[in-house]
Amino acid sequence: MEIFNGTQQAIANKINKTSTISNWRDWKWQLKNSISNIDQFEKLTGITFNADEKSQLKKTLEKFPLSITPYYASLISTENYQNDPVFKQSFANVHELHVLDTDLTDPLSEDKDSPEEGITHRYPDRVLFHVSNVCAMYCRHCTRKRKVGDIDFIPSKEQLQKGIEYIKNTPQVRDVLLSGGDPLMLPDSKIDWLLSELTAIPHVEVVRIGTRMPVVLPYRITDELVQILKKYQPLWINTHFNHPREMTASAKEAVRKLADGGFPVGNQTVLLANVNDCPRIMKKLVHKLVQNRVRPYYLYQCDLSEGLSHFRTPVGKGIEIMESLIGHTSGFSVPTYVIDAPGGGGKIPVMPNYIISWSTHKVVLRNYEGVITTYKEPDHYENKFCDRDCENCNLELNMEESDEMQSLGIEKLLADSNDSISLIPENNERHNRRDD
Ligand SMILES: *Cc1c(COP(=O)(O)O)cnc(C)c1O
Repeated sequence: MEIFNGTQQAIANKINKTSTISNWRDWKWQLKNSISNIDQFEKLTGITFNADEKSQLKKTLEKFPLSITPYYASLISTENYQNDPVFKQSFANVHELHVLDTDLTDPLSEDKDSPEEGITHRYPDRVLFHVSNVCAMYCRHCTRKRKVGDIDFIPSKEQLQKGIEYIKNTPQVRDVLLSGGDPLMLPDSKIDWLLSELTAIPHVEVVRIGTRMPVVLPYRITDELVQILKKYQPLWINTHFNHPREMTASAKEAVRKLADGGFPVGNQTVLLANVNDCPRIMKKLVHKLVQNRVRPYYLYQCDLSEGLSHFRTPVGKGIEIMESLIGHTSGFSVPTYVIDAPGGGGKIPVMPNYIISWSTHKVVLRNYEGVITTYKEPDHYENKFCDRDCENCNLELNMEESDEMQSLGIEKLLADSNDSISLIPENNERHNRRDD
């Protein structure tokens, strides 16, 4: 049991000779004693760097700040730290200063898709609401690396109010995703207030919280916090485990509290070179997640943000991992592998190919074992013309509240009710040459 092991006791005593287990398990004590510079890191972990390494690391920290909770630092295996997944995710690396020509400061164009400070509105029915600029631990692979921690910034009620107003005035938003930074860096009272405001908006059907607290500061998931969150169901929680080593006794306790609180808990993993780019590690991770009632949700291809080049893998590595999961293990253990499109196109799922060929009446497929099989399609299938007029439709699909939105994108090309036959990029030269 890890709960308060020898390493943790030793770190706690270096922070303060009189530290106890109850200090260690107090999330505010953990935050107050978080590691933010190299000397502190050396002192608490016993890992040391030479003068040359130190001066390089200091330069890195000037650009991208450091913050590691004593708890997360206690998971580093100090004998072999260079190869340690916790060390690599949390401690600065001089490669962060290597900026490639192809790196982008805002790869997901979150700023361009921001109609209001703190809001990213990219998809038709849901928004991302950045409610804090700080985290308990600054992930070295953070996609918002340039922004997060810049200025320690917890927005005031007035600032949050603007985002709330935007959501109030935008009736198509039915799903609000609280993100940051880490939303659970806010004090309980602010979280309580924010959720009460959001859930009072009639068109907001669900709220989600994206937080890495169960991984980097599991003691943040207190009984009091769970009692507050429980008032605002349906509330979904997504966390961010990247390696099986992170599923410690304390992390298990945190996710157990959330699952017992009745929240569906999901997990988003980032595919990281030399951290988890291995089918066996990934399989172990998803198994540990589902054992603890956490559903693998997304596996992300590492973004094109500045300073992440040493973490990126080819897309083929992700496909290889998906190949090793699909069919080989329980369907609910398999995340969706996505590439968040540079330029703000949103998440694009990618998968191995399972359809080998197709004729008018047969599909040829292959399974995970390499068995090739055929599916015979129906000889007769009467297509029902759909003009999106559900009122006059005789299908049982005729739904109450058929508030069908305009069809969009590829869906539009497939729809009967829309006569578009193609989607043409703006400024297509061939089209510009036409005179009509
Ligand atoms: C990821 C993301 C969402 C949520 O996407 P889901 O696929 O619904 O989880 C919403 N808005 C933005 C800007 C995002 O990046």
